[in-house]
Amino acid sequence: MKQNRRQFIQKTAASLTLAAVSPMAFGRNEVLNTSEPQSKPWIELSKSAYLHNASQISRMANEKPVVAVLKNNAYGLGGVEVSKILDQSRHIFGMAVVKDTTALEMRAAGVSKPILLMGDFDEELAGELVKQNITLSVHSEPSLDKILKIGRSEIKVALYIDTGLGRMGLPYHKSVKIAEKIKKYDHLTIEQTFSTLTTPKDFATEQIARFENIISQFDNKGIPTGLKHLAPSYSILDLPSSHQEAVRPGILLHGSFPLAHMDEAAKYPLQVTYKLKAPVVRLEKLRAGDTIGFSRFYKVETDEWIATLPIGWADGYYSGAENGAKVLLGDQLYRVVNVNASHANISLGAKTKIKVGDVATLIGSDHPEITPEGFGKLVDGHNYLQINYKESIPKMVYETF
Ligand SMILES: *Cc1c(COP(=O)(O)O)cnc(C)c1O
Repeated sequence: MKQNRRQFIQKTAASLTLAAVSPMAFGRNEVLNTSEPQSKPWIELSKSAYLHNASQISRMANEKPVVAVLKNNAYGLGGVEVSKILDQSRHIFGMAVVKDTTALEMRAAGVSKPILLMGDFDEELAGELVKQNITLSVHSEPSLDKILKIGRSEIKVALYIDTGLGRMGLPYHKSVKIAEKIKKYDHLTIEQTFSTLTTPKDFATEQIARFENIISQFDNKGIPTGLKHLAPSYSILDLPSSHQEAVRPGILLHGSFPLAHMDEAAKYPLQVTYKLKAPVVRLEKLRAGDTIGFSRFYKVETDEWIATLPIGWADGYYSGAENGAKVLLGDQLYRVVNVNASHANISLGAKTKIKVGDVATLIGSDHPEITPEGFGKLVDGHNYLQINYKESIPKMVYETF
């Protein structure tokens, strides 16, 4: 949904007020009061885990700086909250996002490092973006025209070059012409030049050659290129020649590897940065023959205690969790046996000490089977599943877990 500038600024101001009232709570739509029993899920973030991961990622790339990709609400974990944490890391050059409003929200929340807008912007927000020192991407000829229409104030831009992903960016063979045009405007400063690699190694290598060839043409023509970066998480680990002057991970920041069993995982230990939690809101002993769910998905074989958690696929929790995921309650793991839109059911067995109000950890660092990767393995999914978590899930930021 589009919103105009005034609505946007009102929304941002309101969210900042909420954060000020309750320093522990960072949720933009809701405030979590930890002294009250909870009836909804929430996400906890660890500052120290994010800062640790930022430094590990830089180490993977020979201490080069890191451009943190925090698109899609930082893969569901809270774009603003995560950007505020990473703003404090000396390994982070800046943030990269896809939405104009996200860039402004991060700035309004106090982020001081460069914020690169990789996607397009709404013309109504153009003036504000420039005023807030957001770096605008030139990804097509019309996008440059749009930037030129903003006026003559100083504008930082990034050249977004398509070397073969075929999705966004200036086709590399056309990019010199546009860069020459940018050079003619004194008020435009090229702060960054970037492209994105595909995963097949042979083609990624070809893309790097295309990028480096274009950069040398820019150099010959005296066109500045600023900080050059190519590598998402996969390439950082797979292809050292992709590192250029900075690396540009998303998933690694949150402590997950893009693919399971990557060899480097052991060499560069990352920390899981978040926990997804939800309280038990109902506890009932179901009888043999009872079933759970609209489709009667789970059939109770012998009398057993079933807990209900107030989280489901409408919150972005993976519906496939009912095919083998586990949650931690107390110090024990229990099986998820059903996921509906707003609820998940957990099998506790014939006897239980669990009570209504006890808090389940659905994802976290406490046990290998509930880490994002452990969860992904149990449900036969990938490591990016948190990306669907709804923005409305409140976030709590801790110094460390
Ligand atoms: C998403 C994205 C990244 C980060 O990808 P990961 O696999 O999460 O590291 C980097 N660059 C661009 C342009 C992206 O869109």
